[in-house]
Amino acid sequence: MSFNLNHSYSYDDIIRYLMLLKKNFSQIINIETIGISHDNRVIPIVSVGKGGNGPLYIAGVHARECINPVVLTACIEKTIENYYSAQIPELEDYSLYFIPLLNPDGYEIATKGYEGIHHKNLRENLKKCKITSHEFKYNAKCIDINRNFDCKSFVQKKYSGMKNSEPETKAFIDACKRYHFMGMIDFHSRGNSIYYYREAMPDEYNENQKMIADKLSKITGYSLNIMSDENPDSLSGGNTVHYFSEYLHRPAITIETVEETATFPLDNNYRKIVYEQIKEVPVEFLKILISKD
Ligand SMILES: [Zn+2]
Repeated sequence: MSFNLNHSYSYDDIIRYLMLLKKNFSQIINIETIGISHDNRVIPIVSVGKGGNGPLYIAGVHARECINPVVLTACIEKTIENYYSAQIPELEDYSLYFIPLLNPDGYEIATKGYEGIHHKNLRENLKKCKITSHEFKYNAKCIDINRNFDCKSFVQKKYSGMKNSEPETKAFIDACKRYHFMGMIDFHSRGNSIYYYREAMPDEYNENQKMIADKLSKITGYSLNIMSDENPDSLSGGNTVHYFSEYLHRPAITIETVEETATFPLDNNYRKIVYEQIKEVPVEFLKILISKD
């Protein structure tokens, strides 16, 4: 079996594929539910490895950035393959954790249109937002999850919701409390770039972030964003990485895949390109974190 980056994958297809991996490689992969979306979709976390400690990789926070959930699913499969060919001895003592689709309702909207939402009231309210479905960034209640997290940079505004109000936000926070991840990378699109600077954090934290970002830049070929790009309008806070860095004091990196000039809906041809750029990142990030322990 092999995940095909050329195929179209719905939320159900991705879940089915993950369950098949679990069935076939149950010694090394585990899948748990961390939350349920507004439109009743399970939000899974996938671990690959035999240890409890490890970093987290997430994708699909923003609905329209629908390349990364498929690419992360391919990375899960690749990690399993590499484990069985004895290429990742670290996974005897650690695990890699993946949330390939934190915002499943949004993914369905961006890839299928508003008819992808089952719940009639949600669907009708979403249509009133008058946003083209393939441009849609939010969850099924039109909240931007990446503005919803409680942290120093949270600002309440139209799409932010109340702090930590959304089921996807709560699912992420619960997972952080349950697994105490060693670090995290949140994959977004677009820019072929890496955000590492966290204004709310001390110099020592940001020096370590820069060291990690430099290494990830060499692996991916992506450039580093300058410090002032982190939150240029002071309205872009409330992200997963802000919550993670401020509450866990551990490395939290944002990687922007896909070239800046790409338009939505993102062309599926980007999947193979992005996969080649980031496929080493999960294991290499683990190695960086182990070396700092
Ligand atoms: Zn994004």
